[in-house]
Amino acid sequence: MLPYEILSRKRAGQSLSEAEVRAVAAGAADGSWSDAQLGAFLMATAIRGLDLDETRALTLAMLESGDRWQLSREVPRLCDKHSTGGVGDKVSLPLAPLLAACGLPVVMLTGRALGHTGGTADKLEAVPGLELALDRDATLRLLSGVGIAIGMATGSIAPADRRLYAIRDQTATVSSLPLITASILSKKLAAGAGALVLDVKTGSGAILSEISEATALAELLVATANALGLPTSGWITDMSQPLGDWVGHACEVNETLDLLEGGGADDLREITFALATEVAALHGDRIPSERLAQVVASGLARELFVRWAREQGASAAWAASPRLPLAPEEQVVVAPAAGWLAAVDCRRLGMLMIEAGAGRARPGAAIDAAVSLRREARLGARVEAGEPLARLYLRRRDDALAASFQRCFTIGEEPVEPPPLLHRHVG
Ligand code: URA
Repeated sequence: MLPYEILSRKRAGQSLSEAEVRAVAAGAADGSWSDAQLGAFLMATAIRGLDLDETRALTLAMLESGDRWQLSREVPRLCDKHSTGGVGDKVSLPLAPLLAACGLPVVMLTGRALGHTGGTADKLEAVPGLELALDRDATLRLLSGVGIAIGMATGSIAPADRRLYAIRDQTATVSSLPLITASILSKKLAAGAGALVLDVKTGSGAILSEISEATALAELLVATANALGLPTSGWITDMSQPLGDWVGHACEVNETLDLLEGGGADDLREITFALATEVAALHGDRIPSERLAQVVASGLARELFVRWAREQGASAAWAASPRLPLAPEEQVVVAPAAGWLAAVDCRRLGMLMIEAGAGRARPGAAIDAAVSLRREARLGARVEAGEPLARLYLRRRDDALAASFQRCFTIGEEPVEPPPLLHRHVG
């Protein structure tokens, strides 16, 4: 099967056979397709789309291009979670110990920051010593010990995705829904949990800001995962303002501990509890929020979080006093006028966090884990002129940066209804 023929057929909008889709994934993994050919396939796919059969075939072929850990063969009731990412989205961190405390083990192979959104791997690396390179044996040891394993996908997991993703990044084809679906699910299926919960974000800080797009992606992910034997469901959740009280790296680890100690922001708790209940239900378990509140109140979830971090290398000093320092210069972002907080340009806010040092301006650059933002006002809140909207924690005072942050907030003259947190259930 010649790449030329496959490309001509996709360019003309025809559906590819399973064998043709497999040829593309094999060509990506073994190097027999050139970057130009793969780029052409990706662009034709981004424009013409893939139907559900093609999406399923591409996901499966990408999965089969690498190692399959099949963890749920050895770890019953194993859970996994995926978020499409957002600003202040640290849900994975408290979710894992909450589930483990309820007897449901959790594996997550996470990634680094993508665009304006933070990455779970980067957040965890704020903890001194914490190591994210996990192979299958180490993952199994963690799951049978503490019930939590959070690492980064190794090079041998879905190598076809690694190559295709790099080319998507250069060819403006990252946002194609079937390509996103195959990319995410090939790696999830490779780890091999028995249930997957999705948190698909919508709003100004989401990769897919329109709810129609977020719903289409969520439905494609659910349909494809279920067709491949991975029970999956989830929620479309709000990302029109930062999630929780904090945005950054060290501060988001601290906020995880706040939640696990019974404090923390209500929105973060509500989404985390909803996702925990959802994934438990996929395993046939009923874990209502009262049960989750109980494992918080008993201290078990917090204990598991710290124990897990220690197992993955976190220092004894951090475990003894697990709050990380913030950058020293506090700078307040104030409301320029009285009114109601009507909108937050959450994408811009995420980009400004990168500019402030809490993200990578170029691949491989270092992150300043201590640079942080604390939100002081929620959408719909009444604010007076000069009242804080947010607090920045920077290395040094930067009035121009603070002014840019201020422009992320729109103050309206009329009261506004805050958006719902859980927009829609999918699955
Ligand atoms: N995460 C992935 O792993 N792949 C995508 O395409 C998007 C998000």
